[in-house]
Formats: sequence, C-alpha cells, structure tokens
Amino acid sequence: MLSILCVYWFNAQNTNAQQEEPTVYQVGVAAVDVTPDFPIRLRGYSGRDKESTDVVQKLWAKALMIQSPQRPPALLITLDNCLVPAALREQVAKRLHRRVGLLPDRLSITATHTHSGPILAGMSKTLYCHPLPQKHREHIERYTKELIDKLEQVAIAAFKNPQPAHLAWARSNASFAHNRRTKGGPVDHDLPVMVAKDLAGKLRAVYLSYACHCTTLSHNRISGDWAGYAQESIQRHHPSAIALMSVGCGADSNPVRGEGSQDEVAAIHGREIGAKVARLLQQKLRPLSGPLNVMFSTIDLHLAPLPSRAEWERRAQHDADRGGTVGFHARVHLNRLDRGEPLKTKVPLPVQTWRFGSSLAIVFLGGEVVVDYALRLKQELDAQRVWINSYANDVPCYIPSERVLREGGYEGGGAMTFHDWAAPFRPGLEQKIVDEVHYQLTDRYRRSPDVRNSP
Ligand SMILES: [Zn+2]
Repeated sequence: MLSILCVYWFNAQNTNAQQEEPTVYQVGVAAVDVTPDFPIRLRGYSGRDKESTDVVQKLWAKALMIQSPQRPPALLITLDNCLVPAALREQVAKRLHRRVGLLPDRLSITATHTHSGPILAGMSKTLYCHPLPQKHREHIERYTKELIDKLEQVAIAAFKNPQPAHLAWARSNASFAHNRRTKGGPVDHDLPVMVAKDLAGKLRAVYLSYACHCTTLSHNRISGDWAGYAQESIQRHHPSAIALMSVGCGADSNPVRGEGSQDEVAAIHGREIGAKVARLLQQKLRPLSGPLNVMFSTIDLHLAPLPSRAEWERRAQHDADRGGTVGFHARVHLNRLDRGEPLKTKVPLPVQTWRFGSSLAIVFLGGEVVVDYALRLKQELDAQRVWINSYANDVPCYIPSERVLREGGYEGGGAMTFHDWAAPFRPGLEQKIVDEVHYQLTDRYRRSPDVRNSP
C-alpha cells in the first residue's frame, strides 16, 4: 500500500510540474569586456614565468538577472577566468547589496576555467615555485581592482534593464570532453541550455554549461579558450542574444586534441557547441515556471592529518636546489608556522542552488569538481530537471569523489600543493556535499521511484 501511495504522490508531483503555466519573469542581461590592456601573468599552468604576450580573444563578464513574482531578484555572473576567489565574490556581493539591494546569497559567479586568463589577487600563491616579482604583483592587483569595478557595472546594467521574459531549457550534448585520468573513464557530455525570450519571442540570453577543462590552449596569450569560442559562436548565430557560459563537473575531463593549432582546435570545440545550441533552439524547449528560490551555504570539508614540522622541513629540502613546487609549498608552510599562524585543517566549500518551482534546479558547486558528482546527483535526482555546475562562487581546490580520493593522483590530492592546502582531503567529503545538495533541493527533485521495481 505504501509503495502505491508513494508512486501516486510522485506522479502527482510530476504532473503538476508539467501542467504549470510558464511564468513571466523579469530578466535583465548585460556584458562587459574584461580583457586587460596591459601584460599580466596568466593563471593555469605552473610552467609559465612571464606576463602575457598578447590577446587572441577578448574576455568577458556577463550578467543575467532573473526575478520571479513574489521573490527578490537573483543574479548570475559568468566570467572568462580560471577561478573565482571567494574574497572577490564577497566584495562584489557587498557592493551589489549596497547599490541594488541584491541579497548576497542570491549572487552566483562562475568561472569558465580558461587557463589563458589573468591571475587574480587572492588566488593561491603556490601555483608557482617562487614569489611573483613586484611588477607582476602590481599588474595582478590593478587588474583585480578593475575587474571588481566591471563586475559591479555589468550587474548594475542587468538590473537597470529588466524586461518581462519567458525562460525555457533543454539539454543537448557535445563530444569533445574526455576523462583525463583513465582512458575511457567517466565523462559528462550533457550540454544544458537555458534561454530567455521576451514576450514577443525575441531571444535575449542563452545560458549554458559543459563539463570540461578549459585547457585547449597552453600558450601565454589571453583567450577564453573553447568556452570563449562557444560564446562567440552562439552570439554569431543569434545576434540578439548574449551567451553566458559556465562549466560543469569537468575537473577530470580535458578537451580532445584535434588537428591544427591550439587556437584552431579551441575554435572548433566552441563551434561544436554553437552548432548544437543552434539546432536545439529550433526545437521546443521545456518552459520554466514557478518562483525562483535560491539557497546558499558553505560546508567545511576536513583535511587528512597535516604533516609534522619535521616532515615540512624534509619536504623543504626535497627540491630546494631544483626550484620545485613541493619544496616551495613546504617553505611557505614553514614560514606560516614560524609566524605562529595556525595551518588550515578544513576547506570551506560553497554549495548553492537555484530552483525554478519544480521545473528546473541549477546546482552551483564551488571548487574543481570531478565528474562523479554530476553523474551521481543526476542518478539520485531527477536528471530531467537538474543541471549541475562547478567552478562557482569560489574555487579553493579540486573536489575529488571518494573514488578519486582513493585512487590519488593529481585531482585526488596531488594538486592540493598548487592550491596551497597542507594535506589531501579526509574521506567522507562526497556524502557531505551530496547531502547538502539533496537538502537544498528538497524532495521535489528526487528521482521518481521505478514503478517496475516496486514490491
Ligand atoms: Zn583545473
């Protein structure tokens, strides 16, 4: 009897979701060029030791403001950069709260993870195995300050120009991400796409996400990589719209290498996404309905026991003569201990969700999240109504699943050195993150039980 009741309840939930009328949302959208006009160190590869040489492609920050009836507005900013430091989000949130009353929890900032964008102040100091020269640091400070001003500007522009709009979404797929740890290993090729159209049907914004590292390029020139080309391609196909791009759980996925120069390959990947989006937009997308509810919390993920002082001293000598990152990382930690600074034992990770009634939930996970999270969440939740993003609101380090943590390697713990953490994670983080997502999304987004397997 219980299982029959449950099935009826879930069916009723889904039927209600499908029958809801599309909601008229207030939507504002804006874009601002955030390309530096001076040379600057680029974030992403520890081997680079010079400032950027030139600009191959402009970088952008784009803002999408959405307000549903009876709810305060929410704002998404997508940024062509490697990471979003928490301190940067906090500053932008404070300014927007003051300027337009945006509630800080209702701000999402995501990075495309392009490895050809500027370093920002507040990013890890141990990506490189030496302190940055003074002139380089000044350029980083200057760019960060200018960027925060521009993020405020683009957000205000989106707030100033709200128009009634319908929202709809659907999923396509793109093929160029592959598992970079294991040949044939798990990937997420989903390409979720949301559109905003005014009431006359004119396309105003296309928001999408794809789970892949933005690492087609490894030169020292400024570019948005495949994510930049994808946005360009969409805007070329749909000139009335602004395209905004986030990245999914692609921490262990890389773009496939193709024929031609790196820039040509990045453009090919971007055009694949552009073509898929163009095809998708010829079909009827699923309308969004209901109030836009946002939840934001920061959860603490514990590190494994930290090395002893003797261990730091041993590591500090390890590659002292070769200028390696392990030795530099150890010396940075010894300096902290000498100053009496306690070493951090846990990583704060932001978890945020946007729920459009029961029609769509977008999950924004901080960190460089491996693909297992997206696959698991889409298995446990209703994959037809759930969209998982990563690189959102802060990127403190890689976020391995229990499997990847056990396997070790770069994403499993090795990269903690580059992200300036003293140890790998302690087991247990995956369940904690998954539980938080379930809690925020409530039972309304649970996968319907399989009727055939009901007793
Ligand atoms: Zn990365």
